[in-house]
Amino acid sequence: MKTLELLLVVAAALCVAAKPLNERTPRNKLLLISFDGFRWDYDQDVDTPNLDQVSVDGVKAKYITPPMLTMTSPSHFTTITGRWVEDHEVVHNMMYDAKTNLKLPHKVTLSKSKWWDNGVLPLWITAQNQGLKTASFYFPGGGANYSGQAVNRALVEPHGLPDDNETEWQENIDKVMSWFSEEDFDLVTLYYGEPDNVGHVKGPETADRKKIIEQIDRTIGYLRKTMGQHNLTDSLNVIITSDHGMTTIKKKPLVDEIVLQKYLNLLKLASFEILDYGGFGILTPRPGKEQEVYDALSRAPNLTVYKKDEIPEDFHLKKSKRLPPIVVVADLGFNLNSRFIVYVNKGDHGFHNREMDMKTIFRAFGPDFKKNFLSEPFDSVHIYALMCELLQIQPAPHNGSLAVTEKMLLRSGGSKVTASISAALLLLLFTII
Ligand SMILES: [Zn+2]
Repeated sequence: MKTLELLLVVAAALCVAAKPLNERTPRNKLLLISFDGFRWDYDQDVDTPNLDQVSVDGVKAKYITPPMLTMTSPSHFTTITGRWVEDHEVVHNMMYDAKTNLKLPHKVTLSKSKWWDNGVLPLWITAQNQGLKTASFYFPGGGANYSGQAVNRALVEPHGLPDDNETEWQENIDKVMSWFSEEDFDLVTLYYGEPDNVGHVKGPETADRKKIIEQIDRTIGYLRKTMGQHNLTDSLNVIITSDHGMTTIKKKPLVDEIVLQKYLNLLKLASFEILDYGGFGILTPRPGKEQEVYDALSRAPNLTVYKKDEIPEDFHLKKSKRLPPIVVVADLGFNLNSRFIVYVNKGDHGFHNREMDMKTIFRAFGPDFKKNFLSEPFDSVHIYALMCELLQIQPAPHNGSLAVTEKMLLRSGGSKVTASISAALLLLLFTII
């Protein structure tokens, strides 16, 4: 019976179309690019034809929210693990040991596993354990080993490398494209230190920052051209994101700057501190002095002080073993100066992640993404599940949800519709038979 056969074929085809991405072949490759400190609205006062074209050809989120705390290492590690900071334990950009008072800037720790390997597996390792080939190009955490496993290929950012060399940016893209096309890598994470650097040094509301955004835009154009030359346009998904935003630091005489020593004798009351580092500070009170430190800081204006066990749940910081007993979050734009004002940054981050100035970007395009799709805002912790879905691998335990991002994938929406059509057709078939 011809109609019956036809219906059977259509129903079967629709059932295949409704299959989740992870049961489909071929698997496409994935490039994750992070431009450090790219505030969500940096493209709104600059001409960015290439970023605009990405939104037309793919997905744009209105903005995304980084985890607390809004700093480079903690936030990047949330993106690549899908875990909150309290779980992955990269709890500051300055790596530290509160017992020995050791403090190491994150760029010094990039290949030192003890600061990164805290029992959580980043995406590179989970993907490799499922047969994929992965690489990290300067991405924070990529140079460390996890449970004894290294990323297949990891380039660690050399110390003192200029952040804004456009020629080098393009060369890095050339290298990454050849890794995909000639060496068959499945996942590469690529990191750029701008516009964070210019945001700190010059400030976010400056012509210099706009110039860097134009340079980033040209780099996106170069990326798309190079993808085409390597025949990767139909087989490579690209996610462009960042770790946090940037805000202008408020200085004298516009405001009364915070100097914490006015409120407490730091040497007498604290055995460990990281202050003078933007809007997020941590302290270990000397034994028996916790309440005194807390009370003194509570009297200081333009900041909020938390005892560790009273940190709000939505910070996802409380469970951390590394975090000291006292956490201070300054109001937007205030630096937490400790004893004197020696702080030179014109812009900074580390402030509350609900502040719009801390929000950042998300763009994506490639064979698995819908075109011209505007996503509602979401938390960056959800990017991990999306990347696992794109790579068709089983995620490690994580704190995100694919449900948040799957609407941006071609198979979603379509899959629900095709699934219900298939069901209706099957029902019809059974009725006929
Ligand atoms: Zn920064």
